[in-house]
Amino acid sequence: MLAGLTNRSVDTEFYSPVPEGYRKGRTKYVAVFGTVMSGLGKGIFASSVAKLLKDKGLLVAPMKLEGYLNVDAGTLNPYRHGEVFVLDDGTECDMDLGTYERMLDQDLTRRNFTTSGQIFSTILERERHGAYLGRDVQMIPHVTGEVKRRLRELAMHGDGHRPADVVFVEVGGTVGDYENGFYIEALRELAFEEGEDSTCFVALTYVIKPQTLGEQKSKAAQLGVKRLMEAGVQPHMIACRASDPITEQVMQKIAMFSNVPMRRVFSMHDRPSIYTIPDEMRQDGLDREILSILRLHERVDAAHEDQSREEWKGFVRRLTSPKNRKVTVGITGKYAGLRDAYASIDKAVEHCTAGLGCDVDLKWIEATDLTDANVAQHLAGLDGVIVPGGFGSRGVEGKIRVVRHCRENMIPYMGICLGFQVAVIEFARNVLGLEDANSTEFKPSCAHPVISELPEQKKIEGLGGTMRLGGQDVELRAGSLMSQLYDGRTRVRERFRHRYEVDPGYIKRLEAAGLVFSGRHPAQPIMQMLELPRPGATGLDGAPLEQTHPYFVGGQFHPELTSRPLRANPMFRGLVAAALERRYGGAEAAAARSASIAAR
Ligand code: GLN
Repeated sequence: MLAGLTNRSVDTEFYSPVPEGYRKGRTKYVAVFGTVMSGLGKGIFASSVAKLLKDKGLLVAPMKLEGYLNVDAGTLNPYRHGEVFVLDDGTECDMDLGTYERMLDQDLTRRNFTTSGQIFSTILERERHGAYLGRDVQMIPHVTGEVKRRLRELAMHGDGHRPADVVFVEVGGTVGDYENGFYIEALRELAFEEGEDSTCFVALTYVIKPQTLGEQKSKAAQLGVKRLMEAGVQPHMIACRASDPITEQVMQKIAMFSNVPMRRVFSMHDRPSIYTIPDEMRQDGLDREILSILRLHERVDAAHEDQSREEWKGFVRRLTSPKNRKVTVGITGKYAGLRDAYASIDKAVEHCTAGLGCDVDLKWIEATDLTDANVAQHLAGLDGVIVPGGFGSRGVEGKIRVVRHCRENMIPYMGICLGFQVAVIEFARNVLGLEDANSTEFKPSCAHPVISELPEQKKIEGLGGTMRLGGQDVELRAGSLMSQLYDGRTRVRERFRHRYEVDPGYIKRLEAAGLVFSGRHPAQPIMQMLELPRPGATGLDGAPLEQTHPYFVGGQFHPELTSRPLRANPMFRGLVAAALERRYGGAEAAAARSASIAAR
């Protein structure tokens, strides 16, 4: 018998392992299914609806159900699947979880992310432990039971203090895919078991407008919804994606064919900004319909809603208002040109544009093309440069050239994870004169492994040979640029995903040559942030320092993962402010900075 579960697999067909203490009716469920095709922005849709309800003071908990058999997203190629997002608890997951965290301004955990791989390994492990009491283990009820168990557990857990008012379930893929069929079945069962008014099913569909016809056609959308109904799921609400607003006639057809009243069919046409979606949904009455479907009116806190909406509107206003300043920031990457692979960086930069009142153009730089002779040309006109995270040696020498060029030419530089490591390698080679400095990831036999994998340290951290993943505290050096950027705080938390780090044996030498490790692990000799002092800085003896720079920083972590619309990550904000300063001069940038402080 499984601890905490009521396992009635032998004597009843209603096998459903309900977590102990679960109270039916306390938590409501909204499930979003994609039909017709993938890539419709299900995550953006679901997170916008969740935000609407959160703004009303409800406790919301999103769940992404992934169809793939990987246990987590750690092994997925960002080329194919978009970036790997990392949660504070170290979960490597789909980039949609980033969308939820940003939209809801809420930290998520492994409870908010499930893959088929996780479901099946749990089931098989249980089977090997004899937990199914001699019964044949089946897709229904056991696999679907495990899906329901996880949803209810998330509902009960809520934010760790109180249960969720609404669990938002996003089913990955498209209705009709083999791999998500059991998720749909599990949700059908869940709605049946939870009873009336417990669940709101939303079909997100797509209305095609063929160029040759020039008008919207609803057939594909109808068939898509029909497919969902064939699986036993009658949607309560239809959201239609399209390039233009859906015409009345098309809405009527869709309503009629899917048994959904017109007031519950919504046009989700393309918008200039995803951040206006929650308010537009509200104007269309989508939140009102969900509240009545789930009978949630009594839990609404109107004052909370007014305040949250005002804050959000302020952000949207700052973001979308016309800007008269623009900077160009270069970004190197193996996946150059592929935005999804760097989605969070893109977003973090966007958050800064709202706060600092400027536009930022991101220019992708293919690091493998760079040589000593052409690096200046490739970086010409850039006001700042980011070297983002990465694995493997491809393009590394090019990235080191980028660092050198930025350091020597006073171009604002921010290194993220691998970008932090190449900054250390560059400094060791060109300032310290350690010619063969490298990382053991790229050259295991190098003379000066300034970046290396340190097993003893890994043991201390208790992580074995695996990656160092998730949120860690970073202790900031008092008076450093970093501590200034982080509002004078002495300890902050950032998210990591790496295997290599600065070899402690080189720290003293690097620092003596002028590199400042301004953020460290509170207890271990793990270097987590670096910077060069700002121009005009003096040493302890009062003499001017040799190695200074307007903005040269790095983090062994991924600052993009903690950036939120209303709270841009300080390192990114610092980079964009420095880029502005480089382009427009000090006064202009200082004005932008104080505007951003006022706006925060
Ligand atoms: N490859 C490097 C490491 O494992 C950097 C990782 C990263 O950039 N996320 O440490």
